[in-house]
Formats: sequence, structure tokens, C-alpha cells
Amino acid sequence: MGLRKMDDDFYLYPGSPSTGFKLNGEGIILVDPGHGSGRHKDLLREARKLGKPVLAQVATHGHADHIAVSLRVGAPLHIHRFEFSIAESPLAREVMTFGSKAPEGFLAYSFPEELRVRGVFDWGESPFGLKAVGLPGHSPGMTGFLSGNVLYAGDSFFGERLLGAVGLPYLIDVGAFLRSLDSLEGLASSGVTLIPSHGPVVSGEGALDLVAINRERILRAVGLTLEFLKRPLSTDELALKLMEAFGVEPSPKKLALNLVPVRAIIARLYNEDKIEALVEKGLKWKVKGD
Ligand SMILES: [Zn+2]
Repeated sequence: MGLRKMDDDFYLYPGSPSTGFKLNGEGIILVDPGHGSGRHKDLLREARKLGKPVLAQVATHGHADHIAVSLRVGAPLHIHRFEFSIAESPLAREVMTFGSKAPEGFLAYSFPEELRVRGVFDWGESPFGLKAVGLPGHSPGMTGFLSGNVLYAGDSFFGERLLGAVGLPYLIDVGAFLRSLDSLEGLASSGVTLIPSHGPVVSGEGALDLVAINRERILRAVGLTLEFLKRPLSTDELALKLMEAFGVEPSPKKLALNLVPVRAIIARLYNEDKIEALVEKGLKWKVKGD
């Protein structure tokens, strides 16, 4: 497998996440180097084929699977300022996916090393010629990188296969995630090709459809939550019912993963004054006034 040309100066190397190669004159900027024992060698080999050195790396967010090989690639890593400490600290990375120190081997992906982030940027800036587009919701500083007519969109939306496997899209803020989907829709409508880190490259109608599928999945989960919470349920009970509704067989790891977006849905409905909390053999949530 080699590089796929996406635009005049933007290439994509396959993987989950896939890695972007931005040519910026003197060298290459890698977008989301990814993880895996041999991946840094693959990325450096592809850079040699292009005949340019890797000058820097940028990451869409600080989740471990997007940045693990950045140490071995060696070029300085830049990330949005909200993701800075998440990327640097192994413990902060675990907190972002588990809520505390995680049981060993329990997370889908983690790595023990500290990272050094060499620079931070803000949305609207253009680090190394890549326009940083704010797409928060999956993580606080989730950033898409726009190069010409191509947006490397990170984990701001997902392919159908991944959605089908996990149930709920991983998100920590429902409102922010939905607004980011609106931004993606706007970009796709204006002819921008969207690249999710985990899923197929999409453009035109295909991009609009996939963004709509992500939105529908979240709105359906919110609607079902209001239905299920007509009787008091714990977060775990609610997550299991949602997974069942989406046809996902629960395993300990999948349930733990779904608990994060389920807590985000609970927070949204609570803040909208639609549900309330009670203690009834544990912390339960229930629709108000029923
Ligand atoms: Zn992620």
C-alpha cells in the first residue's frame, strides 16, 4: 500500500487512523502519524519516495492511537492548545477515555511513554500551511486540517462500519459534536472532500450522507434515552439498552467505551431540564415530571 494523492500537495497513507502527508515546499508535514510497531518506518519510507524530509507533525487530537508513533518519527509535534496536556501525559490520555487510570490492557489502545509537544496552535491559524478548523465534541480541541479542497477531519465523524461496531460515536459533548457535524456539512456542500481518520474518504453526496448518518445516530440515541428514562436507570443500564437498540453485542470494553457518550447525553438532557438524578440503589436518571 502506498500514498494516495488527494490534492496537489496532500496525500493520504492508509490506516486506522490514516495519515495525511502535506507538502509545504521544503518538506512534509505529517497529519496524525498513528500507532503500530512498524508504522514510523512506513511513513518515513513514503516520505523518502516523495523526496522530502518530514519537517513536523500535527495531530487532530491527543488520543493515543493518533500520536503514538510521533516519538519514533522524530519530527516536532504540534497540536491544538486544548489537547496539549492530554497528548503529553500517559495518565491524561487514559483519563480522556476511561475517566481515571485505566486497568492495564483494557483500553482499545494506549502507550506508556510521555510525549513532548513542541508547539500549540489555535483554530483559525494555519500551522505549516494547514488551516486549523475547530471540530470539538469528540475531544476538547479536536481539529480538522484544511488543505486546498481536502479536509482531514480526524474523529469528528466516523465511517458506518465503525459506528455499527461500537454503537454510539465516541463523544464527550453532544452539542459541540453536532455543531461540528454542521461545519462538516457546510464544507462538504462547498465541494470539500472529507477524510475521517477511521472510515472512507467521502465527497459530495457521499459526504453529506455519512455526516447525516452520524447525526441521526446521535439524535436517535437522545430520543431513545428520553424513552428509556421514563423509568429510573443507571448510566450502565441505559448504555446497555442503547447498545441493544443499535444491535451491538455488549462486552466489558465496549460497554466502558459507550458509557462516555451516554454520560454526555445525560449531561445534555439534564442541562435542558428534561431529566433528573435520584439515588435508588445507586445513582439513577429519570425523565422529569413522569
Ligand atoms: Zn479519538
